[in-house]
Amino acid sequence: MIETKTPTKKSGYFFKGIPVSPGVAIGKAFVLSGESVKIEVEQIPAKDIHKEIKRFEDALEKTREELKAATSATRSRIGSENAKIFEMHNLVLDDPVLKEETIQKIRDDKLSAEYAFYTVMQKYQNQLAAVKDEYFQMRSADLRDVKRRVIRNIQGDRTDFLQKLEGAAIIIARDLTPSDTVALDRHKILGFATDLGGKTSHSAIMARSFRVPAVVGLRHLTKYVKNNDRIILDGNEGVVYVNPDRKTLQYYQKLQKKIHEINRQLSVLKNLPARTLDGREIELAANLEFTDEVETVIEFGARGIGLYRTDYLFLARTDLPTEDEQFEEYKAVVERMRPYPVIIRTLDVGGDKNPQNINIPPEANPYLGYRAIRICLERHDVFLPQLRAILRASAYGNIKILFPMISSIKELREAKTLLEKARRELRKRKVPFSDDIEIGVMIEVPSAAIIADLISREVDFLSIGTNDLVQYLLAVDRGNERIAYLYQDLHPAVLRTIRDVVQAAHRNGTWVGVCGEMGGNPLATLILLGLGIDEISVSPIVLPEIKKIIRSVSHPESVRIAEKVLSMTTAEEIEKFMMRYMRRKFKDLIF
Ligand code: PEP
Ligand code: MG
Repeated sequence: MIETKTPTKKSGYFFKGIPVSPGVAIGKAFVLSGESVKIEVEQIPAKDIHKEIKRFEDALEKTREELKAATSATRSRIGSENAKIFEMHNLVLDDPVLKEETIQKIRDDKLSAEYAFYTVMQKYQNQLAAVKDEYFQMRSADLRDVKRRVIRNIQGDRTDFLQKLEGAAIIIARDLTPSDTVALDRHKILGFATDLGGKTSHSAIMARSFRVPAVVGLRHLTKYVKNNDRIILDGNEGVVYVNPDRKTLQYYQKLQKKIHEINRQLSVLKNLPARTLDGREIELAANLEFTDEVETVIEFGARGIGLYRTDYLFLARTDLPTEDEQFEEYKAVVERMRPYPVIIRTLDVGGDKNPQNINIPPEANPYLGYRAIRICLERHDVFLPQLRAILRASAYGNIKILFPMISSIKELREAKTLLEKARRELRKRKVPFSDDIEIGVMIEVPSAAIIADLISREVDFLSIGTNDLVQYLLAVDRGNERIAYLYQDLHPAVLRTIRDVVQAAHRNGTWVGVCGEMGGNPLATLILLGLGIDEISVSPIVLPEIKKIIRSVSHPESVRIAEKVLSMTTAEEIEKFMMRYMRRKFKDLIF
């Protein structure tokens, strides 16, 4: 949130999108066009037929090598049974019918290799999927996986491509999926700008985790940018300049220095608590996506991890991470954060996170579908090893467990029963773990918010996941740039819901945190404080600013603000009021 006088004279192109990660980046563009497995009909000239067949055969060969490597790695890590999936993929890959039909289509219909292969595979995949039998469904999924791999290799793997990024650049993409982002070399990225996405889409969360400025929802930016164009990305205002004039450039170079200076000043708060003027202390923790970001979290002065999204361990690979592998990851984080707590959220995939190691079939409404705890309660082979790994890590520090997407008490009880089972298994193996682990539930589905009183009787804490809660309460897809203006975390319905959840939980002696991106919205901090939130977990990049805000008010002042905004009728009114209030109060912060 930076108040700036945007330069008036602009040359080149100028785009306005949704600001999702603060700061200014200046650098050259690296454009990622298209989506990795989205294929368009493409005709080729007759003279290119041989070249196209060779592209196809080379991709088959590359895929064969990949599968060989995946098979042996899986076999040595988790046994031959688990490696069978890749053997199955190999059989699909070597099927002469698929190969011949594709070559025939390239030759006779003059289709590009990827489109020819896509149509052949799609035909068989659909035929298998139409048979209502688990075996055929699984084979259909095998075909889909092989199709994706081969097409990626025909097109030149986009993620390989990203890893080969030469020098630092600003990534310009239509969209960045979580699987794309896990493959990135973070050190070479100055910022992100994407056509698609909203404030809480995972590309936005990633950008904040990488601590680089980002703007999403720019709609047609990719059509206008070429590799090596000079870009200015303003992550506060949500603006992107392509080949700007000298005056604009100078303005932003100055602004970059100013932001740097503000951050330097905020860094003196590092070792101070997030305590109001009258002594009320808030747990101010950080969200963690990648284990190796833990040092940064500490550097930014976090007193704990309020949300450890374990999903990225699963997204970064094609096979499932084993219990031991997960244990090592969790243990490293927990030991490093000790004595501060680490809230480990159990697997939350589905929605826009689609790891290759969990078969999530295409759905009409993924965010309302097979997701998070719903997957885990069905896939004990995934859930129990994770629970055991978390329990084992609890012997090395302060761990709390958080269940995502709970929508009923029944689901919560089932999750707790499985946790008990994991405990029993460890006891049998004589493996140590802590007996004193707090259990929490994410409040991110409206039904859970409404029964927060019932839930809070069965757990130690609640953590409000505002990213999903806002999407489900307001019926606004969190990743859809077209309706992003409707995605409002200061909507009266959201504020009332938070108020009710906090009150219900406190009546039962259960503490409440906020781990969604609203916690890092400086316009919301005083309201959350006034509503009685006990803990806030944010991206490290905004943590110092949020701490400064908390330390500058008394608790009664925040209660007055919360009461005031709760009497207002629209999100626009609340936002305007908060913006004015904050600008008046915090002259040394740029809003
Ligand atoms: C949320 O929904 O607010 C949340 C923190 O979880 P995620 O963004 O990973 O869905
Ligand atoms: Mg969520």
